[in-house]
Amino acid sequence: MTRSGFGQTRSMSTVFSKIVNREIPGTIVYEDEHVVAFKDIVPFAPVHIIIVTRQEIPGIASLPETGDHLHLLNAAKTIAEQQGLTNGYRLVINQGEDGGQTVDHLHIHLLGGRPMAWPPG
Ligand code: 5GP
Repeated sequence: MTRSGFGQTRSMSTVFSKIVNREIPGTIVYEDEHVVAFKDIVPFAPVHIIIVTRQEIPGIASLPETGDHLHLLNAAKTIAEQQGLTNGYRLVINQGEDGGQTVDHLHIHLLGGRPMAWPPG
């Protein structure tokens, strides 16, 4: 939190941290000590879940040596099983402008429930 020129407190956290901290609504489907997962607001597949680190890591390009990101893949596997994605699924991490990243808070997209095309756009 920082203090603006008008004496109001202003949160500097990402939109994903606001969901994690229940400051804004989100359909949370999984959480543990390291990550939180919720439904994407604009789903591109029958199952489209965002798995985000509790730690505010901006993205793959600025990974610390250790931290919550080390738990993302295990969480993705657990959530995929919970979602019943027995026929397969896709995990996506977008990095930077060319990668199509729009929220600077490290996250994996878990997409499933339909066949995925390749190559991606
Ligand atoms: P990126 O483009 O950074 O890889 O992915 C960001 C994703 O977050 C997008 O798929 C977008 O639909 C989703 N998103 C952005 N804002 C919100 C929000 O407020 N709530 C939820 N549930 N998803 C969001």
